Amino acid sequence: MSDMVTVGSYLDPMDVQFARLHLEEHGIRAAVVETSNFDPTLIGVSGGIRLQVAEKDELQARTLLRALANERTEIDPDADAGEVRCPRCELAYCFFEPPSLRGVAPGATELGVFVAAILRFGPKRWTCHKCGHRWDDPNEGPKRPTVLKPGDPRPVFRLKRSAPGMGAFMGFMVGAGFVLASGFAPILVLPAAALLGYLIGNSLNRDVCSEPSCRKQLPAHAETCEGCGGFVAGEIRRAAEHFAEAAEARREIVRMRKARKTARRKRAEASGG
Ligand SMILES: [Zn+2]
Ligand SMILES: [Zn+2]
Repeated sequence: MSDMVTVGSYLDPMDVQFARLHLEEHGIRAAVVETSNFDPTLIGVSGGIRLQVAEKDELQARTLLRALANERTEIDPDADAGEVRCPRCELAYCFFEPPSLRGVAPGATELGVFVAAILRFGPKRWTCHKCGHRWDDPNEGPKRPTVLKPGDPRPVFRLKRSAPGMGAFMGFMVGAGFVLASGFAPILVLPAAALLGYLIGNSLNRDVCSEPSCRKQLPAHAETCEGCGGFVAGEIRRAAEHFAEAAEARREIVRMRKARKTARRKRAEASGG
């Protein structure tokens, strides 16, 4: 136990457990070292929750954790060119298949589409299992995902979340307590309490960062995420929209960088000649 080294530090207890399990699946014993205080706002100050392994496993652990991080952010700049990528979200979770539930689920709004997906009825098309996009030409997507440079803002989104179901349940429980204590007729109290809870839950939006490996709560008006440092580029309603929106934002950032570069070059040419 004397030769333990730190191979990662994490802000989110879920992330560190995920990483520990990943190492143990590959036969590496890992220990989670919690900071001494329990104030979640101070974890970052004291270096996060650390993941440690025996010194002899350090190199393999770091390699595994790096691969895991790439997998979780879904963007691997060294990914093989040649696989089919989705033109919309740029990820390589693409299959040539008839309408399928996995393909349409994130965007299914029409009953006809939904029924076709259940029956798997319709022509085979390329289908993205991340964002639900369907298209025909396998070469339409990019060969590689658009990758940002260090220093570029990394786009994340405000994932709007409300909890009407939880609210209704809490309302029901409070109502039940009230019925037991007061002797009022349940039929008068419970539906009203559940409805009130539903409305309260529906109005309380617990917005979180849309980055799948982050999901830290975002305060109202926050412009950056405290959890992952991402730049809040907009709002989404469903977690699956993150991939397509993030790809669009990355393409926009790269377009703007190129436009700035061209403008600078033209200015230099104009003043030089
Ligand atoms: Zn896609
Ligand atoms: Zn975040």
